Amino acid sequence: MAEDTRYDVVVIGSGPGGYVCAIRAAQLGLRTACVEVYPTRGGTCLNVGCIPSKALLESSERVAALEHGLAEHGVSVEGVSFDLAAMMKRKDDIVGKLTGGVAQLLKKNKIASITGRGRIVDANTVVVTKEDGAEERLATDAIVIATGSKPSPLPGVEVDKDRVVDSTGALALPEVPKHLVLIGAGVIGLELGSVWARLGAKVTVLEYLDRILPGVDGEIAKAAQKVLAAQGLEFVLGARVQKAEVDGAEVTVTWKDAEGGEHSVVGDRVLLAVGRRPYTEGLGCAEAGVELDKRGRVVVDGDYQTSVPGIFAIGDVIAGPMLAHKAEDEGIAVAENLAGHAGHVNYAAIPSIVYTHPEIAGVGKTEEELEAEGVPYEKGRFRFGPNGRAMALGETEGLVKVLAHKETDRILGCHILGARAGDLIAEVAVAIELGASAEDLARSVHAHPTLSEIVREAALDVARRALHK
Ligand code: FAD
Ligand code: NAD
Repeated sequence: MAEDTRYDVVVIGSGPGGYVCAIRAAQLGLRTACVEVYPTRGGTCLNVGCIPSKALLESSERVAALEHGLAEHGVSVEGVSFDLAAMMKRKDDIVGKLTGGVAQLLKKNKIASITGRGRIVDANTVVVTKEDGAEERLATDAIVIATGSKPSPLPGVEVDKDRVVDSTGALALPEVPKHLVLIGAGVIGLELGSVWARLGAKVTVLEYLDRILPGVDGEIAKAAQKVLAAQGLEFVLGARVQKAEVDGAEVTVTWKDAEGGEHSVVGDRVLLAVGRRPYTEGLGCAEAGVELDKRGRVVVDGDYQTSVPGIFAIGDVIAGPMLAHKAEDEGIAVAENLAGHAGHVNYAAIPSIVYTHPEIAGVGKTEEELEAEGVPYEKGRFRFGPNGRAMALGETEGLVKVLAHKETDRILGCHILGARAGDLIAEVAVAIELGASAEDLARSVHAHPTLSEIVREAALDVARRALHK
């Protein structure tokens, strides 16, 4: 075992939570180490999550646009073809650039970037086991657990990484499936289902609930389902998947409906995407006394401190939405707290985006949440259809919905289905962060002709004074 090295903080995990936490800690003058079991940095997000999925979504969208989107512009393209291997290489190159960039950033900030599996011994000691079995003992004043999440398993469905894959496998299929069966109509299912549907696969989505995208505003999710169904995704709701059986190149997926009736579908690839679970294997939580909840998440207080003083946790491994930017902001908050500042994350203003076409974006409360909490609210809605820029883009599908408190007019939520929804939601996230009212948003000048005028019209509609409705 190597000699002791003393750090102010040791971060375990180099995903968006961990590496951002390490950079902020180093910026604030803390002597910092970041431990990562994989040879590349960036965690799920950069290696097998946000980035590769968006690269494939973009490439496949180009194919779909060439095949279906140009006729109304008077442009005809014949003989559209694509090279899947080249698409995959582009994706891998982007991942390589970004993971290499994170490694550089750690170096630039003089962070000790250590490769190996981190195990917590106590609040002041992390032991790192290297690939060759050698161990390095790190002495530290504080530890930040940022070990993220892994795909959830489903009994009866074995991920063989060939015919039955998880999201990592679905980002690297060797060929376009003839028939892809998705288990789970959540974010991963719809994003990766869109990729393969655009490239020519028949896609069947089996979802346990009676709706898609749990957590997304109900009206928006329903509208999104209609649009995605029109793009060829076939949805079976209320489908409780029982098993997937592989026979050569075929997989039979069997499910029960709400009445108990049994059904099955045969595909050539299956994507299991029924959620993700926190990842704490081999971390030594039990031995160190770090409490986990029933779902395996590390329990933290308002300052991200675990049940053991001096040990903190952030990102997918704790409660809350499993989003890269949520992990990042928690990492910043912990680093600032450790350096004596007042780190804080406003959970009322965390946007989330589903990168289908069109995109689905939301921030703040959904209508269902406001109803359940008994909060009185007004709703303003405006469709993409009448907007000039939407027409010019040929992107008239969708709507913006702004939810504001009935008495104070304070913005409580905004939900969008439509082109570039992921960019449009940003101004509402800032508005919520600043405690703005719907009237504030409505009185802010929005450039013409832009899609952002739809957000303004929806804000105006809260007071029933939309101008173009
Ligand atoms: P992770 O990114 O999971 O990083 C944890 C790191 O810790 C990993 O590198 C792991 O190897 C390492 N680790 C674990 N245990 C140890 C140990 N004992 N010692 C050393 N290292 C260890 N979110 C978005 O916001 N936008 C998106 O568009 C988006 N798209 C996604 C697409 C897919 C297909 C998937 C799977 C996820 C996507 N997400 C997206 C979710 C996002 O990836 C996660 O929310 C985010 O990566 C969480 O960050 P994290 O730092 O908490 O954990
Ligand atoms: P999810 O929670 O979004 O969706 C899982 C779906 O599977 C749910 O609709 C659930 O009802 C369904 N399900 C569960 N058991 C089932 C069964 N037996 N049969 C049929 N359906 C079943 O999870 P996910 O899509 O796996 O994504 C995991 C996480 O990754 C998400 O929570 C999200 O935060 C994150 N992510 C984010 C993005 C993004 O921000 N764009 C993209 C991908 C992933």
